[in-house]
Amino acid sequence: MGIRIKEWLSQIPEYIPGRTIEEIKKEYNLKNVYKLASNENLYGPDPRVLKEICSSLGDIKFYPDSACRQVKQKLGEKYGISTDSIVMGNGTDQIIEMICDGFIGPEENAVIADPTFLIYEKSALKSGGSAIKVPLKEFRQDVKRMVKSVNEGTRILFLTNPHNPTGSNISREEFEYVIKNTSGGVLVVVDEAYSEYVLENEKVDTLRYLNRYKNLVVLRTFSKIYGLAGLRIGYGISDSSIISVLNKIRLPFNINSLAQKAAVTALENESYIKKVVEKIYKEKNRFYKILLRNKIGFIKSYANFILIDTGKNCDMVVEELLKRGFIVRPGKNLGLPGHIRVTVGQPEINIKFLNAFIKILDASGYGE
Ligand SMILES: *Cc1c(COP(=O)(O)O)cnc(C)c1O
Repeated sequence: MGIRIKEWLSQIPEYIPGRTIEEIKKEYNLKNVYKLASNENLYGPDPRVLKEICSSLGDIKFYPDSACRQVKQKLGEKYGISTDSIVMGNGTDQIIEMICDGFIGPEENAVIADPTFLIYEKSALKSGGSAIKVPLKEFRQDVKRMVKSVNEGTRILFLTNPHNPTGSNISREEFEYVIKNTSGGVLVVVDEAYSEYVLENEKVDTLRYLNRYKNLVVLRTFSKIYGLAGLRIGYGISDSSIISVLNKIRLPFNINSLAQKAAVTALENESYIKKVVEKIYKEKNRFYKILLRNKIGFIKSYANFILIDTGKNCDMVVEELLKRGFIVRPGKNLGLPGHIRVTVGQPEINIKFLNAFIKILDASGYGE
């Protein structure tokens, strides 16, 4: 008799990994390859953070602090909250997983947008539950319909602000609609992986609602604007009653010591990320201007990536970009066929990319 796996695991879709720079270099015989597929901060982390990582290497013979005390202390100061309301994860991915493991069981579900960040559904399925998927409306999360889709089996409603893969936002009114109209028995999880990129006057200050709404969870990460995706560290903020459940199921040493050091140093030097925000904002405007001039469709982005229309020859466009050394995310892998998602990087890269892309798109018969 063969080994039997848990029945519900068979439904989990397989993750299709993006292609690596090395693979593309070899396959297409290229010297320079630009990975614009995973929304990383291509400017990289603050040099002071890199220095701190290097000088901490000697400590790796020890287990890390299982409670991440220094990082939580800094986060507590930054936001004016108690460290009891913070949980750390091996990337936000892991916190999403812990939330589903902690609150969803068989016959229960999470309400999510469709498409959205893939980890929500995967985690809900892994916990033995399911996902109720609510289609986007004009590339934005349809919050009214999401709230309406909550049923007696719903334990979590996931919002993503800014949204991935579209880059669109949720307004303050929309967020308030959700939090006010969702039962206190349903966790409202707002994934703010890209929130630092949002301009001050367009931000929704979700943390302000934590006192009033004990069912609110806010997720943030060091992977995106802080440029530490490879170290895997993110955090969740919520009422201490929710956080203590998550800490119970969290593995003790889920955040490695280098990630902890890096995060602390990053939080001590936040002027660095302010500069990145400004640079990305400028570069997004470069994209918009050139795309508009060439009558190419795109979605205005609140993050550091842009969803761009490619028309029906998307596969060909992606392939031609690869040949020239640009790795982008094909929309069909993200539930948005006919589009690509492109990370906005440094000016030199963006200019090279846009030149290549416009030529390829013209040759593809876009807009004809
Ligand atoms: C990148 C991303 C995350 C966070 O990823 P981690 O590296 O696991 O912190 C979470 N949500 C969304 C929508 C993202 O795009």
